[in-house]
Amino acid sequence: MQNDQFFPELEVLRDTFDRGITRDLGWRISQLHALQKFLIERQREIAVAVHHDFRKSAAETFLTETGYLRSEIRFALKHITSWMKPSRVSIPLIYQPSKASYFPEPYGVVLIIGAWNYPFNLCLAPLISSIAAGNCAVIKPSEHAPHSSALMAEGLSHYLDQSAIRVIEGGEQESRALLAERFGYIFFTGSRFVGREVMHAAARHLTPLTLELGGKCPCIVDESCDVRVAARRIVWAKFLNGGQTCLAPDYVLVHEKREAELLAFMREAITGFYGDDPRLSPDYPRIVNMEQFQRLEKLLAGSSVWSGGKSDPVERYIAPTILRGVTPASTVMQSEIFGPLLPVIAYGELSEALDIIRGVDEPLALYLFSSDTNVQDRVVRNSRSGGVCINDLLFQAAISRLPFGGLASSGFGAYHGKAGFDTFSYQRSVLCRSLYPDPGLRYPPYSWGKFMLLKRLVTFFQ
Ligand code: NAD
Repeated sequence: MQNDQFFPELEVLRDTFDRGITRDLGWRISQLHALQKFLIERQREIAVAVHHDFRKSAAETFLTETGYLRSEIRFALKHITSWMKPSRVSIPLIYQPSKASYFPEPYGVVLIIGAWNYPFNLCLAPLISSIAAGNCAVIKPSEHAPHSSALMAEGLSHYLDQSAIRVIEGGEQESRALLAERFGYIFFTGSRFVGREVMHAAARHLTPLTLELGGKCPCIVDESCDVRVAARRIVWAKFLNGGQTCLAPDYVLVHEKREAELLAFMREAITGFYGDDPRLSPDYPRIVNMEQFQRLEKLLAGSSVWSGGKSDPVERYIAPTILRGVTPASTVMQSEIFGPLLPVIAYGELSEALDIIRGVDEPLALYLFSSDTNVQDRVVRNSRSGGVCINDLLFQAAISRLPFGGLASSGFGAYHGKAGFDTFSYQRSVLCRSLYPDPGLRYPPYSWGKFMLLKRLVTFFQ
């Protein structure tokens, strides 16, 4: 890859890392506190920036961006000392006398590339893990949330150590130019299509990486659940952020006996949350740009709308929409929807629902509403996904103790809490041997007798 762009800030960051500044526990703690201060002091500006980008409400921004990040920082501050501790290991008799341990070491200067849909969360949650692990970092926010990107660049420069953490703004071109550089680790959140390109660029320098991608997250509504609660929760999770959430339920598979009820409750929930005309609701966001709006309009035009369906290109508004008459072969089922359209498909036997799920690439999350523990076990055992949430949605990503990440086509690697610290660290093993005794047994020449003795020692004492 040809790189015409020069990033002088990278030299500064490399130098800081080489001087060992970011390995110090005190530095890590001070930067986590500084990030916390940014989130608290600039909370209002953050909410305004996200609102400018896609008209998201301040309450939603707090819930899904700043509130989450603040709890993730508190969690890291509480546990960082134990995460950093070396682990001593016992040594087989044959290698005595020795001491052995391994400990987490930072990778160096890492690159974090964010998606636009949770602009602060997707850049700063990996940054928290990266700081905790003692790395320097370059953050490249998405150009599709320009107000958030600008605030991150300006704001963080006043709070964080500029010799170790930098925000570099830009789009595809800048991102590609950054990827041509050598980093210690790459953490990418975005689409599958770009993820492939990122992996290709990482291969050039053999850089380890995490890919946090999207996919079609299924939601099963079994016969045995409280359909009213399921409907409210599904509607909330689907239309949060205008449906532009990697973890949103992409489609619903409902038992045929509960389909009519679920649809009625979902319609009730949409009206309850956003009123008769969701366009007027201050809590209902817009589609981020015209390209995405047109893509969703095409999906809408080819589908059978059961509820909603209105749109307005001037505002890039698409109403919360429920689709029926969808089959696994429908266009809307061929790729991640990533917008406020929700297909509902009825099934008779659970095995049919599981077959549909298995017919689609591995999703980031799988959701199930069921009060029957046998059904819960069966669904978990007979499906694959990055994570699972039973009787609710999205919250598996809000718990710092749970690793968050995808599987195969929805990505690989994980973060949040300790998993994030581990992602941004590698385990360095140190063995310290005693110089004495120094028997000649391991050294050539290997006589037959020596070989037999070695064989015995390795077999019985290792
Ligand atoms: P995207 O892949 O278009 O862009 C992501 C980032 O990559 C941006 O910063 C962009 O500037 C950069 N980029 C764009 N083209 C590039 C190229 N050719 N080379 C290098 N970098 C490039 O994704 P998006 O539209 O911002 O986000 C939507 C996608 O992200 C959806 O598929 C969604 O499911 C996924 N997503 C996943 C998660 C997760 O946690 N797994 C979270 C949010 C979004």
